[in-house]
Amino acid sequence: MKIFNTLTRRKEEFVPIEPGRISMYVCGPTVYNFIHIGNARPMIVFDTFRRYMEYRGYKVKFVSNFTDVDDKIIRKANEEGVSSEEISVRYIEECKKDMAALNVRPADVHPQATKEIDGMIDMISGLIDKGHAYVAADGTVYFRTRSFDEYGKLSHKNLDDLRTGERELKVSGEEQKEDPLDFVLWKPKKEGEPSWPSPWCDGRPGWHIECSVMSKKYLGETIDIHAGGEDLIFPHHENEIAQSECTSGKEFAHYWMHNGFLNIDNRKMSKSLGNFFTVREICEKYDPQVLRFFMQTAQYRGPLNFSAELMEQAKQSLERITTCGGMLKEALETAPEGALTDAEQAAFDGTQEYVKNFCDAMDDDLNTADAITAIFELVRAANVNVRPVSGEKAHKALVAQYYDTLQTLAGILGLFIVTEKTEGEDPEAEEIEGLIAQRKEAKKNKDFALADKIRDDLLARGIVLEDTREGTKWKRA
Ligand code: AMP
Ligand code: ZN
Repeated sequence: MKIFNTLTRRKEEFVPIEPGRISMYVCGPTVYNFIHIGNARPMIVFDTFRRYMEYRGYKVKFVSNFTDVDDKIIRKANEEGVSSEEISVRYIEECKKDMAALNVRPADVHPQATKEIDGMIDMISGLIDKGHAYVAADGTVYFRTRSFDEYGKLSHKNLDDLRTGERELKVSGEEQKEDPLDFVLWKPKKEGEPSWPSPWCDGRPGWHIECSVMSKKYLGETIDIHAGGEDLIFPHHENEIAQSECTSGKEFAHYWMHNGFLNIDNRKMSKSLGNFFTVREICEKYDPQVLRFFMQTAQYRGPLNFSAELMEQAKQSLERITTCGGMLKEALETAPEGALTDAEQAAFDGTQEYVKNFCDAMDDDLNTADAITAIFELVRAANVNVRPVSGEKAHKALVAQYYDTLQTLAGILGLFIVTEKTEGEDPEAEEIEGLIAQRKEAKKNKDFALADKIRDDLLARGIVLEDTREGTKWKRA
């Protein structure tokens, strides 16, 4: 397996610290709102990586945090007149629902900053003792950036270039810093903000320290892989390295993986630009696995542009896979037992080729785009050999081989090859689906009276609606 390592800017053969095991930390979201589909990209990418490495036999310990103390959370809490904790608890739950919809498996540990304050105080104290950090007059603790010789090694920035860039950046408290490059480890409390006691002042941690502390606590001083979106390379990951390596004297992470941005009109999707769609919104329009599949149509390091057209294409491509999955499942029920013909045996053996192509692509820095091409080769072969235009039914062993192989490869990508179809069989299905769409539109327009009327009229016809995260489902009572 080759991984592009941001630290060395090269694709490197992956060699774990302990044979057969992987320790991995992925920086998670700041929880103050529903996550947008840009935030979902690292989740899907690194979940896919985790699934693939497990398929290759590794035991992966996967840790991903929730940043639950932050200016944006505090602002949102003040707007709503509730505590920051109420905001973060709410959006952690919502984020977990979105992850489940996208079939992103929960991490082994989801640590939260506010539950790890003691560890942060310990690490900061150690950094002060070693001269890597200092306390300013008002109790703010800063990391002494120039005390770490290797600062800049991840982002490939040179300290003096940074110095010039930062001169423009005047932030409050700036005048207390020994050097503009120093960054905050602990800051004093302000009115209306959550705070914790510390040896320096009542206050709260800076953002970067949480990941250094949680990675060390749950995975150890040196881990195999640290990951996140490319916007985290600088300063977040650079600062994490400085804090961790000055604490332990050891290398913090061997491999640094960063996903490219999900863009809209070639601009990064972000909350601050307002050009975002939440996962929730997209999942109202599409089966969540279409979004998952869409993310996998590109290799993770490049930018990925989001558009309705590309989502439609992803939907249709995925349908080719699920249609084949459904066809194979059905064929299995009636396929004759018995020995394979020579041609069937050749087709059976040929499936190994697709598995190999899939793995070769994934081994090349998780090239899911090429891995999907290998799945389509398999689908094409299955369609030709199991459903011959004329001739006899394929033997069961071949159908089963196609079905199992397709299920395995799609499963590594976290996709289901057989989707439940409820509509279609009922002669009134189309009309009912149409009414459901009208009701959704009415709700969107806040015309709740109309929405309720549609529901009640359907109920009067014996049709019960159920609103789920995947959309509205219906059944006959
Ligand atoms: P945040 O909540 O902004 O800290 O982001 C959580 C994760 O989502 C981080 O790994 C970010 O790098 C990532 N992320 C945020 N926006 C995007 C985007 N438009 N494309 C890809 N990744 C993103
Ligand atoms: Zn982090």
